[in-house]
Amino acid sequence: MSLTTRVKVKIRCRLCGEKFVLRGKKEKDKIETGFRQCICSNEHDFEIETES
Ligand SMILES: [Zn+2]
Repeated sequence: MSLTTRVKVKIRCRLCGEKFVLRGKKEKDKIETGFRQCICSNEHDFEIETES
């Protein structure tokens, strides 16, 4: 049985302020969105918010 839930994920880059809205999969405490990096090349510094 899968515990995966589909969620809407909002990502905001802390470096340039760009916002992204993606669909992701939530598995327990981990969220998989396939998001790699911002257009400013930031790969790590984001604010992430989820809505189910
Ligand atoms: Zn950015």
